[in-house]
Amino acid sequence: MTNLPVLIAGAGIAGLTAAVALARAGVPVVLVERRAGFSEVGAGIQLSPNATSVLDVLGLAAGIWRHAVAPRRLDIRHFGGGEPYAGMPMRTLAEPDNAPFWCLKRADLQTALLDAVRMTPGIRLLVGRSVKAVVQHAGGVGVTIESGRGQAEVIEACAVIGADGLWSAVRKLVGDRSEPRFLGYEAWRTLLPVAAVDAFASRPAVNLWLGTAGHAVHYPVAEGREINLVLIRRAQKPSPDWTREGDPARLAALCQAAAAPLRGLIEGAPGWQVWSLFDCPPATMAHGRVALIGDAAHPVLPFLAQGAGLAIEDAGLLAQLLPAAWLADGRANGQAAQALPDALKRFAGLRAARAARVQETGRSNGRMYHAGFPLKVARDLVLKQLGDAGMRKRYAWLYGWRLPA
Ligand SMILES: Cc1cc2nc3c(=O)[nH]c(=O)nc-3n(C[C@H](O)[C@H](O)[C@H](O)COP(=O)(O)OP(=O)(O)OC[C@H]3O[C@@H](n4cnc5c(N)ncnc54)[C@H](O)[C@@H]3O)c2cc1C
Repeated sequence: MTNLPVLIAGAGIAGLTAAVALARAGVPVVLVERRAGFSEVGAGIQLSPNATSVLDVLGLAAGIWRHAVAPRRLDIRHFGGGEPYAGMPMRTLAEPDNAPFWCLKRADLQTALLDAVRMTPGIRLLVGRSVKAVVQHAGGVGVTIESGRGQAEVIEACAVIGADGLWSAVRKLVGDRSEPRFLGYEAWRTLLPVAAVDAFASRPAVNLWLGTAGHAVHYPVAEGREINLVLIRRAQKPSPDWTREGDPARLAALCQAAAAPLRGLIEGAPGWQVWSLFDCPPATMAHGRVALIGDAAHPVLPFLAQGAGLAIEDAGLLAQLLPAAWLADGRANGQAAQALPDALKRFAGLRAARAARVQETGRSNGRMYHAGFPLKVARDLVLKQLGDAGMRKRYAWLYGWRLPA
């Protein structure tokens, strides 16, 4: 019996979670990451109950939770106004099983996942190597990986999971030519020490400030020691380097338009990192023995805070569907076998509608967040009236998703 490993391309949130999930379910994994190191430039991330419930099932929640803040409220304000005019208690979103909502520093999430990868037997982590070619044959997949110095090697795998992000090479290698499209927005992100901010910003709450020219989100992270602040503003063209340092002078107009407490936060930022925002249609997630997960398959605009959540859902479901097929594949001993392609096809079938709906809701949130007059008046009215019960009903399909029992 030959049981080849599953090769995962990319060790972002999708790839790290999938590696741990599969290895803990008994499937050996080769995890290939292009970057040579794991410094995390991103600032904060929200993980909602649909994602934290998966981390719990995978036994990863405890290691991550100790770094998180559980926000008690969502408060929505006008960008140039002051007091919240809409919002809700976050427990509203925790049903059906009271799964938590977390705000985290990306670096803390990545470190916890990476620690789990290193401690889980059955995972071979190869850094500083890129997946360059994927050749499927009857009993497996030959994957060419290349080091930064151009040294190539072929690894035999039973299946390949493309978790290599928005600009996925694996997505292209399976014939999907869709190019990410610049959206006309960029995200400016920073972390402030809690000692440098006013009390309103350090409360355990997610704060959303909506304006026509842009919007802001801030919430505490790192057990409340730091505040993650994100500003989304319009931009004419994408930066060639999709993450770069931002010159605060370019925020002057937005800063002037902001209400005093928000302006105080923006002016106090120690530095900024800028992301150009891209959109991309969802990919077909299964191609024979190759599957796509996370941003490689369905990047979500940050207006819904769900890209990583979807990636974690993907990883959890893969680990439920793959192990039995992997065993059957081994028994086929190098002969053509359908169990693995069938399992990946089933995985894709179970994910397609949800991924497309989450992507589309992210897009429509973007339109709604930046609405001008008179649309914004209607938006504000709806937000005010929704309240607890309305919000729960509206988003039950999103936050209430759980892995099949
Ligand atoms: C401003 C902003 C705020 C956001 N906020 C939230 C939030 O609050 N909540 C949420 O759930 N989501 C949020 N997201 C989305 C979330 O960050 C992404 O959806 C998530 O990080 C995607 O993870 P991934 O592992 O699929 O891709 P990536 O993080 O892009 O990881 C892909 C990995 O693959 C590697 N790689 C690339 N090519 C190759 C190759 N050929 N071979 C090997 N390795 C390769 C890369 O180096 C990288 O490490 C936000 C996004 C933005 C831009």
